[in-house]
Amino acid sequence: MNRKAAPEQILIHAPFGRDGALIREVLAWADLQGEVCPSLPHLETRILEGAAAAIIAEEALRPDAVKGLTETLSAQPPWSDFPLLIMTSDANASGGSRGRLRLIEPLGNVTLIERPLRTATLVSAIRSALRARRYQYQIRDYIDQRERDAKELQRVNSELEQFAYSASHDLQEPARMMSLYSQLLRRDYAGKLDATAEDYIRIVGEGAVRMGALVNDLLLYTRSAVDGPVSEAPVDANRALEVALANLHAAIERTGASIECGSLPNVRVHEAHLQQLFQNLIGNALKYSQKHQPRVQIRAERVDGEASWIFSVADNGIGIDPRYAEHIFGIFKRLHASSEYSGTGIGLAICRKIVERYGGRIWVESEVGKGATFFFSIPDMPVLAARQA
Ligand code: ADP
Repeated sequence: MNRKAAPEQILIHAPFGRDGALIREVLAWADLQGEVCPSLPHLETRILEGAAAAIIAEEALRPDAVKGLTETLSAQPPWSDFPLLIMTSDANASGGSRGRLRLIEPLGNVTLIERPLRTATLVSAIRSALRARRYQYQIRDYIDQRERDAKELQRVNSELEQFAYSASHDLQEPARMMSLYSQLLRRDYAGKLDATAEDYIRIVGEGAVRMGALVNDLLLYTRSAVDGPVSEAPVDANRALEVALANLHAAIERTGASIECGSLPNVRVHEAHLQQLFQNLIGNALKYSQKHQPRVQIRAERVDGEASWIFSVADNGIGIDPRYAEHIFGIFKRLHASSEYSGTGIGLAICRKIVERYGGRIWVESEVGKGATFFFSIPDMPVLAARQA
């Protein structure tokens, strides 16, 4: 079926007498396209091929025929509510017709037209069925367009990520070369150049190191959230936290931080992803501490009405101005110069990408000078976002 077509045919099935031919004539007189169908299976085929509405004589609706028609109509796409006009001799459902009317109930969008048929009544009923059908076509086109847009967006995203991946991969080598050769220059020409030249070489070397770090982080970002499938068996978040804390051991020792952990649940995510979330968030809690000893609390709780676990990592550090609460999750977004606090601004972007892959979300609540609490949610049954890299 041509998805763009908006068929206007009105199918007619009235097997006894001259009703079928007469109705077609009336429709033609009203500039409407009628098509007589010799049998109900034929009419069903035409519905599947695309039609706007159907007029059926009540006496053609035997139980087995209604079953077939019901099946055909229920196989229609969700936007479709196919209009059926049934010619009946007894619209009040008295006598023998009551059983038949009960029979047609499952057919859905049914209008009864009482016999003897009056031209004006028939044409007006058909016109209103056509109007309803046109709205359905509009919904269909809207849905189609949304699907096409979503596919296009996914394609563009995937191309961009592929580009970022290749670019960051290919830029690693030149960054390494610049760093290496500026070191060689400093070593081999030590004392042979004036102070300004040495200063320039130092700046080039530092730039190369920083560029290498950025490129490396971009590579990490494009790779994050795509490492392998989610295990069917839930992962113990306590274990993931232990590994993250072991990796942060040196920073914890150096800062003398106190770490408090509540009991954490099992969740259905890739263990490496959970570790990375903890590591980035706790790493930041240690880094963005005030001059005093960092205190970090890690908890998880269920919130009423949400089928997900909400994890939190709270610190007593420098805090964040709430105006930047969204901004800091962007790639390379930082609130401080690297001379003040080291880093490239990729950690929280990676956290957001991971969490969103599982259908969760991440956010921060904070006030400047009063510490920050980062929250992220993990749904019980994560629906994986399509892989894009
Ligand atoms: P990076 O730490 O490399 O700058 P992130 O993406 O991890 O990158 O963090 C982005 C920015 O968010 C940081 O530069 C910092 O300004 C702010 N930030 C992150 N975590 C905290 C925290 N726990 N307390 C205060 N500020 C934070």
